[in-house]
Amino acid sequence: MSVTDTLERSETPTGVEHFDVLIVGAGISGVGAAYHLQQQSPNKSFVILEELESFGGTWLTHKYPGIRSDSDLYTFGYRFKPWVGPPIATADEILTYMGEVIDENDIGPHIRYKHKIEAAHWSSKEKQWTLEGKRLDTGEPIRFTANFLWMCQGYYHHATGYTPEWEGMEDFRGQIVHPQTWPEDLDYKNKNVLVIGSGATAATLVPAIAGDCAHVTMLQRSPTYFRAARNVNELADLLRVLEVDESWIHEITRRAILFEQAEFTRRSFEEPEVVRKELLDGVREYLGPDYDIDKHFTPRYRPWRQRLAFVPEGDLFEGIKAGKATVVTDEIDRFTDKGVLLKSGELLEADIIVTATGFNLSVLGDIAFDVDDKPVEWPNTVTYRGMMFTGVPNMVWVFGYFRASWTLRVDLLGDFVCRLLNHMDRMGVKSVRPELRPEDKDMEVLPWLDEENFNPGYMLRRMHLMPKRGTKPEWQHNQDYWAERNEIPEIDLEDSAFVYE
Ligand SMILES: Cc1cc2nc3c(=O)[nH]c(=O)nc-3n(C[C@H](O)[C@H](O)[C@H](O)COP(=O)(O)OP(=O)(O)OC[C@H]3O[C@@H](n4cnc5c(N)ncnc54)[C@H](O)[C@@H]3O)c2cc1C
Repeated sequence: MSVTDTLERSETPTGVEHFDVLIVGAGISGVGAAYHLQQQSPNKSFVILEELESFGGTWLTHKYPGIRSDSDLYTFGYRFKPWVGPPIATADEILTYMGEVIDENDIGPHIRYKHKIEAAHWSSKEKQWTLEGKRLDTGEPIRFTANFLWMCQGYYHHATGYTPEWEGMEDFRGQIVHPQTWPEDLDYKNKNVLVIGSGATAATLVPAIAGDCAHVTMLQRSPTYFRAARNVNELADLLRVLEVDESWIHEITRRAILFEQAEFTRRSFEEPEVVRKELLDGVREYLGPDYDIDKHFTPRYRPWRQRLAFVPEGDLFEGIKAGKATVVTDEIDRFTDKGVLLKSGELLEADIIVTATGFNLSVLGDIAFDVDDKPVEWPNTVTYRGMMFTGVPNMVWVFGYFRASWTLRVDLLGDFVCRLLNHMDRMGVKSVRPELRPEDKDMEVLPWLDEENFNPGYMLRRMHLMPKRGTKPEWQHNQDYWAERNEIPEIDLEDSAFVYE
């Protein structure tokens, strides 16, 4: 008997395995979903299907040098599992933390690796989903049925990153590498490396390789906001000296960080110029008065319109100061055999070019969804709070926060889904879907994101593929943890936006 046979699940007469809840993805969202389900709806059978060979999602896929979080782990960690290390963590440290959550809660036997889901069919007659896909180890087709789908597949393609098409790329005689598919044996020692991009990935990668390269250049079209600080949390460290219990330290530190972040976000909107000056002064402190901060570190947008990149210990700036790394702000005209020719006419020669140019957005894991044989066109749906979609029953997508740690929403939605499932059991109903209420019928329907509020490139490039949002708070993902932490627990499950059958 295999381990999975000991778990609660059943097989239909056709031999298809059936679970109450099927979780897609074993990243930080999927593992969190499993934990909450076990705790709050313990009678539900469930399985996690994951196409990779192990858990971790983002933290398993990305293997470039220096890979680390840019959120603090007190809030990127789950609320139920204390974080005991320095606030900014490496991918390995995050994987260890997640591994402990899996072991401590016996989640491992519920996960099936190398299981890729390709299609999901909803039957209103059966009131259940049928999932189809394949095993990546054996190539065998797979088929499962489930009452409820908990979509924890993230928001971008794991297989390949986004690289723009530049003229002459094929002429370049060196190697072109995307951080998302970093070759483990890439030899950059004593080589000239050009990193294109200046987001969190570039800011991590540049100092991590600067010591080994002959030289590393960070080429950006436009600057990013950076926040440099020491990788310590003084409050947590003090509480440790006072021998306060780690679970208390976790909760107190989380509250303090979230309080400070709320203040920072509020100020970014209310006094953007003051915040801008503070951020730029922080950079100036590292680079000195003679460095051209205006050109290389002063973004065109106001703070918080894109994710802020955190620079622990100011390591990026230390690399620049030491002459190991250079920032160039210019546009690419074309690639040549030797490197990149800029619009200014300068040629940046390189042995290796790293395109830290972002992700390809994936809408619901690129799974082909249909409801009663009618394909789901996501842009024709309206989102209920960025988690459910009109016309699509028994499904929740965990789409976290960008301005706060993603995982804060994993916990909030964990509570919500379990509350919903338990409510449905009490009502004796088998399906739920959100639908616009009569009072919503005239509501304006808009693209998923408000570009004025938040506008990262990977979202803007593929926004036309995303579901729509409405103008009322319940019909959008407002990216506001501080509002949602009160609103989500108070959602009225009897509201007529929920249609039960
Ligand atoms: C380099 C990097 C650094 C980041 N740093 C931070 C940070 O510091 N703070 C923060 O808040 N956010 C950060 N993010 C955003 C980050 O992706 C999320 O915070 C979080 O890790 C997402 O978790 P997830 O479980 O929802 O998705 P993912 O981590 O993307 O995991 C999804 C999993 O689902 C699997 N999957 C997808 N489709 C299918 C399918 N069809 N069938 C089976 N399995 C499937 C994938 O293989 C993957 O394992 C970062 C992102 C990147 C890329």
